[in-house]
Amino acid sequence: MLLWFLLGFFCGCSSLAAEPQTGTDVNSTTPPPVLLVSFDGFRADYLKRFSLPNLEKLYSQGVLVEQLTNVFTTKTFPNHYSLVTGLYAESHGILASSMYDPATHKKFSPSQDSDPFWWNQAEPIWLHALDYGLSTAAMMWPGSDVYIRNRTATHFQNYNSTMTFQQRLGLVVKWLLGDEKVKGVSFAALYWEEPDGTGHKYGPDNTTAMAHALKQVDENVGLLMSELNRTGLWGRINLIVTSDHGMAQCSPERIIRLNSCLHPDNYTLVDLTPVAALIPTNDTEAVFSLLKKCHPHMTAYRKEAIPDKLHYRNNKHIQPIILVADEGWTIVQQGELPRLGDHGYDNTLPSMHPFLAAVGPGFRSGYSLPVLQSVDVYPLVCHLLSIPPGPNNGSLAQACCLLSGESCSSLTMVIGIVVGVLLLLTTLTGLFMFIKPRPSASRPFQRIQLDDDDDDDDDPLLG
Ligand code: AMP
Ligand code: ZN
Ligand code: ZN
Repeated sequence: MLLWFLLGFFCGCSSLAAEPQTGTDVNSTTPPPVLLVSFDGFRADYLKRFSLPNLEKLYSQGVLVEQLTNVFTTKTFPNHYSLVTGLYAESHGILASSMYDPATHKKFSPSQDSDPFWWNQAEPIWLHALDYGLSTAAMMWPGSDVYIRNRTATHFQNYNSTMTFQQRLGLVVKWLLGDEKVKGVSFAALYWEEPDGTGHKYGPDNTTAMAHALKQVDENVGLLMSELNRTGLWGRINLIVTSDHGMAQCSPERIIRLNSCLHPDNYTLVDLTPVAALIPTNDTEAVFSLLKKCHPHMTAYRKEAIPDKLHYRNNKHIQPIILVADEGWTIVQQGELPRLGDHGYDNTLPSMHPFLAAVGPGFRSGYSLPVLQSVDVYPLVCHLLSIPPGPNNGSLAQACCLLSGESCSSLTMVIGIVVGVLLLLTTLTGLFMFIKPRPSASRPFQRIQLDDDDDDDDDPLLG
């Protein structure tokens, strides 16, 4: 009870409500713009394993979240949508890379993602902010070229994987600055495909390949910083650099072949690995019981029994059976290993976690936080933009530790204080009991009364 009280007291922001913030321009009441950048598949431990001088420079002037706990399934589309909506996948509806709607026979995949049908269950921040008079931009971010609830960001580009990072950044900076005719945007999102592509192809354990890919990612961070500097945005923009998920090493020895357990005629396959989604053709119970004992490194769930911790049950597009492979295991129907690195696994696995770094007037300088939830990023961005967030699964309680001008204490410190208070109370109670005078000592001497009425043993031995 005391612990929760103190946790609530110390770990909250002192000003949770969104208040207008001022940038470096004291006459302006418009909050500094926010630029949210994602480098796809940047696993948290790459920060420790590889040399990333530009990224280090960025967070040494700002804040670093060492691990961002992302959402299940730990895939690109679900997690990018969680970052900009603050919702778990079951609530925003982008559940996986491949989805299927049995009622309409609609299909979803990264190359077939433009039907608003899939996205309309939520509203990303680039639309939410429009309601508060802000203009926004989104560059290649999953969902940004879709007319969600009939709207797009003020500026966006159709997805084009051949567009270089420099070209994407050039447009984003132009949108942030604005000109005489068009005002600069308050929020921009920017997406880049690496190091995810290299992680899939060579596996995260391939130090040579990953070092090469991360060197290029870090050069892009350098480009980003120098471009913001050159245009005068550095120091008056809140820059958040993050990612959607990590990457696990796969291997030819860790393959689960579904065809060895049941014939594919028994189900329709919606998604395959590392989280398979199946619609049984006829006898769901029979199909489930075969899949349940199919492989020791694969867990089969009936939709109703998917664990609460995954926040992955309450959506009509979650199929009747899902199969979840253990870390580093690959599910195929038949054949060999498709790729050396993959993600999508249980979101509590550290290998699935990305990181977050941020710098700007809204952030503290030289501060690091061990963990944050990726659903907390949305309320954080809304706070920085001084707009109230829409309904979401996140909170500002942890993220406020990252903000300048907010008082907060780390969890370790709070636990230390709670344990200290409990120890002090125990010692005081003990002392009090020890020095408290005993009732008998305060009374005058009394003879012990012996009841001799019916105790024969006490009778004097008189004849
Ligand atoms: P994943 O299968 O989870 O590794 O997805 C990563 C891939 O998604 C990237 O390599 C891109 O090809 C694709 N992708 C990323 N953003 C978009 C987008 N906005 N539109 C379409 N495809 C995208
Ligand atoms: Zn990704
Ligand atoms: Zn990927």
